[in-house]
Formats: sequence, C-alpha cells, structure tokens
Amino acid sequence: MNNDIEKVLFDQTQLDKRMDEMADELNQKYADKQPIIIPVLNGAMIFASDMIKRLNFKLTIDPIKASSYAGAESTGKVKITQDIKSDVKDQPVIFMEDIIDTGRTLQALSEVMKDRGAASVEVVAMLDKPTTRVVDFHADYYGFQAPDAFLVGYGLDYNGLYRNLPYVGILKRKIYA
Ligand code: 5GP
Ligand code: MG
Repeated sequence: MNNDIEKVLFDQTQLDKRMDEMADELNQKYADKQPIIIPVLNGAMIFASDMIKRLNFKLTIDPIKASSYAGAESTGKVKITQDIKSDVKDQPVIFMEDIIDTGRTLQALSEVMKDRGAASVEVVAMLDKPTTRVVDFHADYYGFQAPDAFLVGYGLDYNGLYRNLPYVGILKRKIYA
C-alpha cells in the first residue's frame, strides 16, 4: 500500500500537532456550549475521531453521509444519503470534514443546518484545497492547505482504499490513470 504513494505530505506527527492546536481553540470556544459534532462520513471518520478525543467539553456526535452527484455538472448538487438523528434547532453544530475541495459539500450541508434553525454552524476540516474552490466557502478551522493533487490517507480514499494510511499523501498517478 505504501508503495502506491508518490509523496507523503502530512505525517502523523504533523497532524497531531495541528489537531492539538485546533482542539485548543475549540476547547476555549465551546467550553459551555455542548455542540452537536457532525462528522461527514466516510472520509472524516479518522480525523474526526482523533479530533473529538482532544475535546474536553460536553458534546454529542451525530454523523451524516452526503454525496455530490455531477449529473448536472454545472450545479454539482449535494445529496444527503444518511441524515443525522438530532434536532439541531437552537443547538450549536460543528461539522468535521476530511477536505474542502470545491466547497460545495460543506456549503450545502451548512445551509441545511441553518435552515433547520441551528444556533451556529462551524466547520472543522483536516485539509483545505484553496485553488480548486468553485463556491465562496471557507472552513472556520482547517489543519493544512493542500495542493491540487489527488490525496489519500487519514480517511481519504481511492475506490474505498488507503483510508487507513496514518498520513496524507499524493497517490501515484499510475494507480488511477
Ligand atoms: P467538495 O468540497 O468538492 O464538495 O467535496 C469535498 C469532498 O471531495 C471530500 O469530502 C472528499 O470526499 C472529496 N475529495 C476532494 N479532494 C480529494 C482528494 O484529493 N482525495 C480524495 N480521496 N477525496 C477528495
Ligand atoms: Mg468527503
């Protein structure tokens, strides 16, 4: 599996350090708020579980699954394929996501929670790809900026594989070309 990786971008040590820093910010901001944490599955599962362990305030966890279908390519609609169970009305909500690319997924999911009356909506992303953004959306917290390359590991997959790599790396082109 490691042989399929062109280059390691962020290793466990780097990720741990950034997650500690982000957790410090969240621990201050949410100390008395009891937010609903919404990991966006499947990609965010590794990052979210590592982040959540660093949070020292009361919270609940309620994952969501979403897929963007490019059928009508220009719209790139986002569909919730597995919804949360919680009522978010008047509750603070924090999404946890692996990577913000076009921005469509988290923009759409944030809108849904605002429409449902969430008291606040914030987004924590492991990675941010600023150069491939197509909508005006920004994560409130992100670990690292990532280049416009196909990345795997730490939850990010190619055809379901590589999620278990304990680092984020660039997949060799020959694997998917
Ligand atoms: P977007 O921001 O474009 O709506 O969607 C972000 C989603 O696209 C991520 O949750 C992830 O599933 C997928 N994605 C974007 N860039 C990459 C990448 O480099 N590697 C992998 N494996 N998935 C990516
Ligand atoms: Mg995803």
